[in-house]
Amino acid sequence: MERVIMIKYGELSTKKGNINFFINTLYKNIQNKLKNFKTKIYKDISRMYIEFDDNDLEQILKTINHIFGIHEYVVAYKVDTNIESIQKLVLEVIAKEKFNTFKVETKRSDKSFPISSLDFSRQIGGLILKNIVDKKVDVHKPELLINIEIRKDKSYIYLNEYKGLGGYPNGTLGKGMLMLSGGIDSPVAGYLALKRGMTLDAVYFEAIPHTSIEARNKVIALSKKLLKYTNKIQLHIIPFTEIQESIYKNIDSAYCITIMRRMMYRIMERLAKMKKAQVIVNGESIGQVASQTLTSMNVINNVTNYPVIRPVACLDKLEIIDIAKKIDTYDISILPYEDCCTIFVPKHPVINPNLDDSIKYESCFDYNSLIEKAINERLVIDIKDEVDNKFQDLL
Ligand code: ATP
Ligand code: MG
Repeated sequence: MERVIMIKYGELSTKKGNINFFINTLYKNIQNKLKNFKTKIYKDISRMYIEFDDNDLEQILKTINHIFGIHEYVVAYKVDTNIESIQKLVLEVIAKEKFNTFKVETKRSDKSFPISSLDFSRQIGGLILKNIVDKKVDVHKPELLINIEIRKDKSYIYLNEYKGLGGYPNGTLGKGMLMLSGGIDSPVAGYLALKRGMTLDAVYFEAIPHTSIEARNKVIALSKKLLKYTNKIQLHIIPFTEIQESIYKNIDSAYCITIMRRMMYRIMERLAKMKKAQVIVNGESIGQVASQTLTSMNVINNVTNYPVIRPVACLDKLEIIDIAKKIDTYDISILPYEDCCTIFVPKHPVINPNLDDSIKYESCFDYNSLIEKAINERLVIDIKDEVDNKFQDLL
């Protein structure tokens, strides 16, 4: 029996004028993610089909479960569109199934097929009752739902429907610059941004020697986890030591975190412009720490006109952790390496910083040239399926 994975577009079909762009992007993403398997992928306006080698099915489904834009899929048996072949295949498909009650549901997109959907379902139901003893039809709560889709040349029979990851196909919604720390929140924020169809570049601020190389490796490992949901992530590692040391030398300790984050946002905006990203994305969550009170966010955000998307802003920590576990970043995030945000945490960070005071403090040192230098001296790593050999052992 020949099988095929059939992908249903679900929410994508509401994209009317743009539907082809969404479908074509999804098609390219699936092709890219399945490039190491022997497959044949084709599509029409309502479905995508993947022919596969039976041995690869499990791995392919695992991969598909990481592709945004897939709302539902089925593993269907494929047959020529003629009545006898379909009847024969239905009996073969259900022969191994254990059930008492069943229902047949037919969808007929090929209107030249001589029997209506309802009549065909009835006909197949009668055939099953005649051929297999002790079975009953139950149209409300059947134990086995037998789906038949009749299309022009080929028809499809399937029993189970699976939920896909949902969201929009990666690459349909522009680009975000993700502030990626080694913590729990920012990889989750990145995942949720990818879910909306964005591609991402990631930015990590490090303060060597105050932070370790292990902390950097954590961020590379997290980027690699996010890569499962997208085709490529460029990771920019910003040497932040000089800026941070200048802040701690020149500025009232209560304001250090506020000013540090204003510097991060300034760098983010510069990089976003450079890399043609339309938004900044980060893992800020309202109320979580002093720098994430609404007043702090307001004062920090004041340095940029760029939209800052905060996908986890309104989630509880436990809700964020649930997602982190689901996307397999949690265990990496809780590894105990210091981040540049945690090394110099003052005893009493300001909870309600004042904008004028922040600007006054900043005027104590020439941050523009330090920002320029940090950007120029950044390390760029392309996180792809084949990551550079020199980083391979870190992942
Ligand atoms: P946690 O999960 O422990 O809260 P976090 O990474 O969220 O860790 P926060 O201090 O809450 O740490 O920082 C808020 C957000 O700012 C992060 O989610 C991240 O987007 C960004 N950020 C913080 N530190 C860095 C860093 N070193 N490099 C890049 N982005 C950072
Ligand atoms: Mg946080």
